[in-house]
Amino acid sequence: MLPEALEKWDLHLFNDLLPRHLEIIYEINWRFLQQLRLRYPGDDKILRKLSIIDEDGSKSVRMAHLATIGAHHINGVAALHSDLIKRQLLPEFAELWPEKFTNVTNGVTPRRWVALANPGLADLLDKEIGSSWITDMKQMENLEKKQNDLNFLEKFQETKLLGKRKLSNYIHTKTGILVDPASLFDVQVKRIHQYKRQHLNALQIIAQYIRIKNGTSETKAPRTIIFGGKAAPGYFMAKLMIRFINGIADVVNSDPDMDGLLRVVFLPDYNVKLGEIVYPATDLSEQISTAGKEASGTGNMKFAMNGALTIGTLDGANVELRELVKPENFFLFGKTESEIMKLKNKGYSPQSFIKNSDELKEVLRLIEIGHFSNGDKELFKPLLNSLKGLDPFFVMADFDDYLNTQDIVSKAWNDKKTWNKMALLNTARSGYFSSDRAIKEYCKSIWKVVPMPVDITCDIEEFTN
Ligand SMILES: *Cc1c(COP(=O)(O)O)cnc(C)c1O
Repeated sequence: MLPEALEKWDLHLFNDLLPRHLEIIYEINWRFLQQLRLRYPGDDKILRKLSIIDEDGSKSVRMAHLATIGAHHINGVAALHSDLIKRQLLPEFAELWPEKFTNVTNGVTPRRWVALANPGLADLLDKEIGSSWITDMKQMENLEKKQNDLNFLEKFQETKLLGKRKLSNYIHTKTGILVDPASLFDVQVKRIHQYKRQHLNALQIIAQYIRIKNGTSETKAPRTIIFGGKAAPGYFMAKLMIRFINGIADVVNSDPDMDGLLRVVFLPDYNVKLGEIVYPATDLSEQISTAGKEASGTGNMKFAMNGALTIGTLDGANVELRELVKPENFFLFGKTESEIMKLKNKGYSPQSFIKNSDELKEVLRLIEIGHFSNGDKELFKPLLNSLKGLDPFFVMADFDDYLNTQDIVSKAWNDKKTWNKMALLNTARSGYFSSDRAIKEYCKSIWKVVPMPVDITCDIEEFTN
């Protein structure tokens, strides 16, 4: 849904580089427009709108139109995403070919993300519900009957602690930072991007830092806030966000007032192998993208099946995750996609949100005076200007609700019995997010293929040689 994902290639450039391809595209377009003329006689407007060639201004090739016309199906990767593709992105195409548009919500494999990554939890599952969950993740639902079994919840919690100790050791070796495995592990790992809003999380940390300094923290819930993720090489603002988080981490981690209450860690070189240590060690999963921008997300699924609770917006697969685990086991905040659209259409003014929040004003002031950049008032200016300008990611609009919801999280954390039950229900109800389910749906609704029986009695030598 992001503009950079919907490429438009300059026609002259295209013709210089790929003249034969362009001839074929013209032929495809001519046949397509003929179809449209039959369907909408005399309607030149719709022809111009749907043509592969954009003729307004400097001419270009619309890659999304070429793909839509050529494709057998156009699939969205979560219910909200599929809906937005049909209603906002390609409404005329969806009216023309409704049967082409499908939804298959993403999934992740329980082999890597539970069995391999979380051996403690895998063993517990094997003992309690048998081992068939590994190929039939719906079986996880059998955990629900354990939700009030305090003895079992204790064991479930111990598998989490095992994961947190492992990550703590990794953090100490890689960064030298000592973290307490008993603290709430609050994690945002994903590519660094403005739409994913790592800076919203960073601003919230500053607010908590100010509260601790002023002695105005309502609830004492020691937290270790962990980030990981790479920025694309040419993405200046994403690299500045990494610098910003590290600036905050330097101040927080070296202030004795923060000891036992707050730690901030930026994990370098985040990748799948490191993810295998991170997802099982997480208590709180940060899924805080601007509503309407995250197609699905898959990190959200990996966290939930490993018993993390989510703080998140109604975006991507979060919507379905919240419905499956039930709203009382999900920390929801933020504007919905339609509320964001309304804000945008009436002219978004971050200033009106800043004006109404004393905490936000103080957070911005500290950044401005260089408190997180050794007195350098220039370093984070581009970031501040983007937040206070026509920010397409509406960070200021969601700040207060996010901070309030983090307070609800802290209160919930201090009731360990309830927290563990909520965490268990997240694991128990996340079987839908197995990639086995997703692939079966592709087979049925898109590829139209059926399972092929496999003879597993054949000679193993045939494969190993
Ligand atoms: C799962 C995964 C992602 C995707 O994370 P999102 O939170 O869905 O953006 C990115 N990077 C790695 C290494 C992952 O394992």
